[in-house]
Amino acid sequence: MSSLRKRVLVTGGAGFLGSHLCERLLRDGHDVLCVDNYFTGRKENIAHLLGNTRFEAMRHDITFPLYVEVDEIYNLACPASPVHYQFDPVQTTKTSVVGAINVLGIAKRVKAKVFQASTSEVYGDPTVHPQTEDYRGNVNPIGPRACYDEGKRCAETLFFDYHRQHKLRIKVVRIFNTYGPRMHPNDGRVVSNFIVQALLGEDISIYGDGSQTRAFCYVDDLIDGFIRMMGTSDDVVGPINLGNPVEITVLALAKEVVALTGSRSNIVFRPLPADDPRQRRPDISVANSVLDWSPTIALNQGLERTIAYFDALLRETGRPVIRHISI
Ligand code: NAD
Ligand code: UDP
Repeated sequence: MSSLRKRVLVTGGAGFLGSHLCERLLRDGHDVLCVDNYFTGRKENIAHLLGNTRFEAMRHDITFPLYVEVDEIYNLACPASPVHYQFDPVQTTKTSVVGAINVLGIAKRVKAKVFQASTSEVYGDPTVHPQTEDYRGNVNPIGPRACYDEGKRCAETLFFDYHRQHKLRIKVVRIFNTYGPRMHPNDGRVVSNFIVQALLGEDISIYGDGSQTRAFCYVDDLIDGFIRMMGTSDDVVGPINLGNPVEITVLALAKEVVALTGSRSNIVFRPLPADDPRQRRPDISVANSVLDWSPTIALNQGLERTIAYFDALLRETGRPVIRHISI
């Protein structure tokens, strides 16, 4: 095997981000082993990769041990949408914590470099704005989001302890809200919800008054950040924020989606879920200087591509889309 061609394990590889990552790694010439239990991921996301002899898909729940020989591991397995991670919160914590232990165990045994998809949720409902990596967060440990937030925080702890104790080569990134094609149409996250609602002419559901903010990164930009992070020297371990620093209110996002789809949907207001962060925006100066990375795709461009994806998907499944989007 050439030193450039690596055997790479992607846990959660059939999910939204995982499928884009598998695609990118194959394009870069690597062998990819995608491991997924298909809880929120879909075989359709990776169907187009199955004919590639360098790609292999394995159904496996990462809370159980796994014995494989690889050079690098990207640990993405974990439901990311509040609706899905709150569906079975105990399994969510197990996936983050036991899953991390299993993945770190593989890395230790075969001396693989290991990457953790952590999250801006480790900052909870932040009191520091924008969020820098040294901010320690404001997480409610007993709230409905805790299974995800605390699970991911504990996974970071495990990564850094394996690094200090066992000298593992780790790479930890904290991902801020990312969107794009292959999000699940019933994923429950704000971008997919608004686009599907707009295309179907249904009410656009804003939780709360829509004044809460997020900053949305297009998937291709994020995956580029992953690859750059994995390619850094061993002394770069993170955590490093990855996200698009352009902040927008949820209400403004709804209006943008309505405008771009030409939808006649009404905007309606629903109760705000417990512990919903008021504001979120990444400080990406570390990613900028260490990875020479910053997002390149503006929100309207990324939304147009995502709208085109959902438009085609809804038509395939026979849903009555209100107008044809040609982008
Ligand atoms: P996703 O739900 O589409 O992907 C998660 C994948 O993990 C799915 O394919 C799912 O089936 C799989 N999975 C879940 N539990 C598993 C288990 N026990 N064993 C094996 N596979 C399992 O979500 P995503 O947006 O692609 O997120 C991927 C990773 O990135 C997650 O770890 C998430 O926490 C992190 N992240 C994503 C975002 C974002 O905005 N997309 C933000 C922060 C962090
Ligand atoms: N949200 C909304 N309507 C929806 C889905 C989400 O107003 O149909 C809000 C949600 O309350 C939050 C923001 O949009 O304030 C982002 O939600 P998402 O679930 O996408 O991710 P989060 O950043 O909260 O994990």
